[in-house]
Amino acid sequence: MRTAIFPGSFDPFTIGHQDIADRALRIFDSLVIGVGFNINKPGMETVKQRVDQIKALYAGNSKVKVESYTGLTVDFAKRHEAGFIVRGLREVKDFEYERNLADTNSAISDIETVFLIARPELGFVSSSMVRELIANKHDASKFLPLKDKI
Ligand code: ADP
Repeated sequence: MRTAIFPGSFDPFTIGHQDIADRALRIFDSLVIGVGFNINKPGMETVKQRVDQIKALYAGNSKVKVESYTGLTVDFAKRHEAGFIVRGLREVKDFEYERNLADTNSAISDIETVFLIARPELGFVSSSMVRELIANKHDASKFLPLKDKI
């Protein structure tokens, strides 16, 4: 049984995140979406709100679990007996950041990071862009999988 973790801030969970999760589900037997608390990224929504929204999205899909966590992603992965971390790559900036994380994680564990390249039509979608739209009272629902929840 191949279990992967999909960690992120997900503030909020966008259609870009959803696409990565859905594609990961074609590769792995089960996926744990981990809403991490990132001290450098203060949230628009509470971590609990994010967990509840993502849970609602995958309700009925027994291959998906959604949990919050603090601490290292590799420790979260080990708690779930997951051998893989899934991350999405949009652009060169993501690559530099993600390579650093993946190198660190492979130096301290045997957990493999698997990268999925963003779909071209979703590569511009980011949580920060959605937050900016919402802060300026602009409709951001086309970038959100749960249209009625935000
Ligand atoms: P973090 O704070 O850990 O970077 P994010 O919620 O911003 O968390 O992103 C989680 C993961 O999803 C990251 O690997 C990020 O690169 C990826 N991601 C975000 N938006 C997209 C998108 N539109 N397409 C593909 N991957 C994405």
